[in-house]
Amino acid sequence: MLKERERIRYTRHFLLDGWDEEKQEKIKNTTVFVAGAGGTGSPTITMLALLGVGRIKICDFDVFEESNKNRQFIHSISDERLGMNKAESAALTVHNINPNVEVEYYDEKFDEENVDAMVGDAQIIFDCVDRFKYKFILADCAMRKAIPMLFYGIMDYNLFGYIFNPPETACFHCLFDERKVRLIERAGCKKGDVAVMSPTLFSSAGIMMQEAVKLMVGFERPSYNTFYMGFGKRHGLLEERGMRAFRYWNTPYFNRASKQAGFDWKTRDTAEMFELMHIPKNRECPYCGLRINTVY
Ligand SMILES: [Zn+2]
Repeated sequence: MLKERERIRYTRHFLLDGWDEEKQEKIKNTTVFVAGAGGTGSPTITMLALLGVGRIKICDFDVFEESNKNRQFIHSISDERLGMNKAESAALTVHNINPNVEVEYYDEKFDEENVDAMVGDAQIIFDCVDRFKYKFILADCAMRKAIPMLFYGIMDYNLFGYIFNPPETACFHCLFDERKVRLIERAGCKKGDVAVMSPTLFSSAGIMMQEAVKLMVGFERPSYNTFYMGFGKRHGLLEERGMRAFRYWNTPYFNRASKQAGFDWKTRDTAEMFELMHIPKNRECPYCGLRINTVY
């Protein structure tokens, strides 16, 4: 049940078509896991708190630094937060944004061993980590628990996103080659390497949060099997570092499906402002194929 002050707080939600107190309660009854309270985590966690999500679990082992201040506003862009663990700092901010939200934080790294316990009974995983190595760990956990993982973020001036929720959609292994990711990470992709500014981060998180609302409230089917990209700069795309990385670790299946959907990762230099590619599930995938073939 919503408290009287919550009813007032969410007045403007209730004006939305298809939204009512019952929908708001559904959001209140949702638990989510946010991996990473950095650039992507900042708008993500803020929106979850503003929406009134009942319980937010935040995991980040890192501390807030001066060079995070161009984007990580969840830490109040305050000198007092410098050196503080990001999960703890984000939890403090959530409490200030919306005291109705329960928040738990983990100031440690997650790995294959502890991820299932950390995610616990969360119904959605928000992937806000930089490194692909950790995205695989999250994606495998989401697949074991049969919950959706929202994958989104930036590559240079561009943003992207896809909802992984097999058997409705492809799985993470369908699209990305874990072996190549491990090779490139071993070759020395260092912390702080990623080129990033706030507009791309906020846009990508905003688009994905609209999908999260569909998942939480259930008034419409999410945009499954759609890989979206938004381009902040249409020229020089092929030379950008993020794009080169994608070209390297995409699976042949992902490249083929993208090409069929009208986007060629290897040659497409100029693009529309947005691309929406239909990337369906892959029945041949050794990770999710069996599950798809059993259900359908
Ligand atoms: Zn798969």
